[in-house]
Amino acid sequence: MEELSRFKQAVLNTAKKAYREKLMAGTSGNMSVFWRERKWMVITPSSYDYEIMEEKDIVVTDLEGNVIEGCHRPSSEWRMHAELYRHLPHVGAVVHTHSPFATSFAVNHQEIPVVLIEMIPFLKGKLEVSPYATQGSAEVGLNAVPILRRKNACLMANHGVVAVGETIEAAYINSVYVEDTARIYHMAVISGTPVVIPGYEE
Ligand code: 13P
Ligand code: ZN
Repeated sequence: MEELSRFKQAVLNTAKKAYREKLMAGTSGNMSVFWRERKWMVITPSSYDYEIMEEKDIVVTDLEGNVIEGCHRPSSEWRMHAELYRHLPHVGAVVHTHSPFATSFAVNHQEIPVVLIEMIPFLKGKLEVSPYATQGSAEVGLNAVPILRRKNACLMANHGVVAVGETIEAAYINSVYVEDTARIYHMAVISGTPVVIPGYEE
C-alpha cells in the first residue's frame, strides 16, 4: 500500500535523523504518524537499534495496540501515542525523545520560561512539565494532554520529551527546539541571569 509505505518511510527517516542528532541514546525514544482516516498508528518498534532499522521494521497498529502490519512489537509507549491521537484531533505525528538537556529539566521537574524567540512560534510558549507516569501506561499520554492542547511539546517528569505536530517533520523540528532551548537555557543559567521575553512572563 503506497500510502502506508510513505508513512513508514517518514517515521524511519525521522527516527534515524533524531538518533544521529543524539536526541535519543541506545534504543530510547519512539515516534509515530497517525493515519486518521483508518485510525492506524505507524510507529517505531520497541527496543530496536536505530542504525539497522529499515522500513519493514516499522509497525502498524490500531489505537488498541493490535498489530495490523509488522514483525516486531510496537513501541512500549504505544498507549501514550494512542491517547494523544484520541484527545488531540489536530495532531498527526508524535516524536518522543530522551534528549539530554531537556530531560535533565524533566528530572528536576523544572519548566523553562520563554527566553528564546523560537519558543513562541514553534513551542507556543514556555516548556511545561507533565506529571510522572509509569513507562508504557496510558497516563504517560493522558498526563501530557492538558499541556499539548495549548503547546506543541512538553517535558515529561523523570522521563523525557514529547513533541507533536500535524506532520512528523513538524513534530521533529519541535523536538529539536525543545533540546536547543534546554541547552541554551542551561548555559544561560550558568553564565548569568536569563531574561524572559517581554509579554511572555506567563
Ligand atoms: P521503546 O523502545 O519501547 O519505544 O521505549 C523507549 C522509550 O522511550 C520508553 O519510554
Ligand atoms: Zn521514553
